Amino acid sequence: MKQPFRLRTKIRKILPWFLIDMGIASKGDDCEKYVGEHEWYNIDNEYSGCYHCQIAKKR
Ligand SMILES: [Zn+2]
Repeated sequence: MKQPFRLRTKIRKILPWFLIDMGIASKGDDCEKYVGEHEWYNIDNEYSGCYHCQIAKKR
């Protein structure tokens, strides 16, 4: 399955934080608009965030 933000996710791991802070490698808006599926990771045991976009949900 293609992930439209995967490249940017990769870039965010490589780029220095200040470039990320400037929004150059900011997350996509919402995977569901494109592929309909997020890839979740645990933020703080209460919320899950998507690797590829800025969506977060309560666990
Ligand atoms: Zn997503």
